[in-house]
Amino acid sequence: MPAAPAATPPWSIVIHGGAGTITRAVLTAAQDSGARAGLRAALDAGSAVLAGGGAALDAVEAAVRVLEDDPHFNAGHGAAYTRDGRNELDAAIMDGRDRAAGAATGLSHTRNPVSLARAVMTHSPHVLLSGEGADRFSREQGLEQAEPSYFATAERRRQLDELLASGSDGFDIDMKYGTVGAVARDRRGHVAAATSTGGVTGKRWGRIGDSPVIGAGTYADDRAGAVSATGAGEYFIRVGAAHEICARVRLAGEDILTAGGGVIDELTAMGGAGGVILVAPDGIGGWRFNTPGMYRGHASSSHAPHVAIYGDE
Ligand code: ASP
Repeated sequence: MPAAPAATPPWSIVIHGGAGTITRAVLTAAQDSGARAGLRAALDAGSAVLAGGGAALDAVEAAVRVLEDDPHFNAGHGAAYTRDGRNELDAAIMDGRDRAAGAATGLSHTRNPVSLARAVMTHSPHVLLSGEGADRFSREQGLEQAEPSYFATAERRRQLDELLASGSDGFDIDMKYGTVGAVARDRRGHVAAATSTGGVTGKRWGRIGDSPVIGAGTYADDRAGAVSATGAGEYFIRVGAAHEICARVRLAGEDILTAGGGVIDELTAMGGAGGVILVAPDGIGGWRFNTPGMYRGHASSSHAPHVAIYGDE
């Protein structure tokens, strides 16, 4: 009798489009269905790479690019506004094979910040570039450029105006519309993570959140898994959240979902809000969050694509 064919190695991808005060009362039907369609398109883009035997790194970049181009999410086109009415974009990417990483912050001309993060990783000797220098490197690399007006949307401007009208001198911590990210495990057993954001509405003084900070909002290590975070970035930086989750897996022997939950509990105790998406080297993946909702989705070689928004889904 011929031997049964070896099982095809599994792949898995998890994405997010931000965590925050996202409830059925807050979102219109059009926002709900538009966000679900965007999540599904991003899952499909990443899944196509993985199902075809492609690398986790390519899958997370492909998924995040779709979400950057979609104005429903606070990244790329549709980014949050700074207090002085600009859009300043941050992104990071990390390869679990060798812990190579790249990130960029304070961008105002790079159409797809995640691809610049990847170029920083691959074509520069550095890990994190900022501002004008980062955009200059982006041009030198031949990446697609955009006028600052490309990132601007009326809905995000309205959110800034609402914040300014409230007289608050802080920034918006409601985060109804979020940062985007993806983590994946490919058929070769490698993991990768990517995150992209406009930051928080009303940010000032060149504020940088957790998304482009390797170990805070983004981390990937084949020995532990891959993590992308969303939420109040200041807390994720202080906790070193994404690295902390991977450290708990490696050093305390926790599975990645338990480790993710533990770190979100820690963040909650400090007063922070947000969530993480996770994937382990064996392809098990999921999310943990302490906010009313989180735009999220998952697909794998054994599970059909699934997207969700509210906490009770
Ligand atoms: N974590 C992002 C930041 O603090 C914001 C978000 O996830 O919505 O920049």
